[in-house]
Amino acid sequence: MIQVNKPYLPTKEKYIRYLDSIWKNNHLTNFGPLSILLEERLCEYLEVDNLLLVNNGTIALQVAYKLLGLQKDDKIITTPFSFVATTNTLIWEGLHPQFVDIDAESFCINVEKIESLFDSNQNTNFKAILPVHVFGNACEVEKLELIAKKYNLALIYDAAHAFGVRYKNTSIFSYGDISTISFHATKLFHSVEGGAIVFKDNSLKNEAKKIINFGLRKSFPETLGINAKNSEFHAAMGLCVLEDMPYIMEEREKIWTYYENKLKNYFTLQKRNLFSTNNFHYFPILFEKEKILLATIDKLHQNGIYPRRYFYPSLEVLSFVNSTKCQISQNIANRILCLPIYVGLREDEQDKIIEILKSQ
Ligand SMILES: *Cc1c(COP(=O)(O)O)cnc(C)c1O
Repeated sequence: MIQVNKPYLPTKEKYIRYLDSIWKNNHLTNFGPLSILLEERLCEYLEVDNLLLVNNGTIALQVAYKLLGLQKDDKIITTPFSFVATTNTLIWEGLHPQFVDIDAESFCINVEKIESLFDSNQNTNFKAILPVHVFGNACEVEKLELIAKKYNLALIYDAAHAFGVRYKNTSIFSYGDISTISFHATKLFHSVEGGAIVFKDNSLKNEAKKIINFGLRKSFPETLGINAKNSEFHAAMGLCVLEDMPYIMEEREKIWTYYENKLKNYFTLQKRNLFSTNNFHYFPILFEKEKILLATIDKLHQNGIYPRRYFYPSLEVLSFVNSTKCQISQNIANRILCLPIYVGLREDEQDKIIEILKSQ
């Protein structure tokens, strides 16, 4: 069976070496030495200054909203073309997503359409923008920065796909007030479960560190908080996987490029931002029609191959969301398929996938 993704596992020996240290010092969670080390190593690897580990990419978003002062019933500009967590977190916090349609080629939020929200005479009392670097493709970060400034909006990037991505030779995480990352097992870099928040402003990190630990300061509940800490066991996995990142990237690049060469004349591929590096996290292809996509999925399934319809459906259609239609997002969502890509995917397996895709 070939899934869209296969979590990367380091050697057991390597992981056990870290476990030995946990057994030695008996520090299992709550900002232990391995978590501190992972935080340091991630800052180095990503070239960012203020990074805080949390226990998943979903809570990272929720903590970000709190930190930036977003309150119940605030309206947030966001994209309908993402993993459901992007929208869920807003609604869970009582915030109202205002969906702005995506660009048909980059799949990221359409910045011109954000501007036209403000030009129209509707209620423009927005508090923040929440774009997504879709499939690791950088958004138009400079334009977003300008809009955020002009209209006094917080700018939070759901950067769950963008691990290691660089934009004009700096980390993509250094854009916006806050970027959130996911370290879930299926992501490019992982710690089984986990995530991080990257801050522009160092003082926000200190506040965040309190919030993710029940709001405690010197064991006194100073502000409203939650539990979003991660454990030493997760940090140990993160340290192992981070050591292997050069190898992981090399393998993924090979697989990604192989698909690109064989498929670019048959399918529409995502248009990459010229200033954005590629982290080879996903390989999405666009079919001409949903009907062909569905028939192809059937055929792939018959051959034990399970790609995923990332992202389907467009989020504004969900039953718990109340929004007007985003035509382009729906159109792309209906026709997009993410192909299997992971360390260990063999060339003959890719050939099989490519052959089936081309036979439609
Ligand atoms: C994976 C993902 C998340 C959620 O991260 P978890 O660590 O699984 O909670 C949020 N947003 C996007 C775009 C994602 O792909």
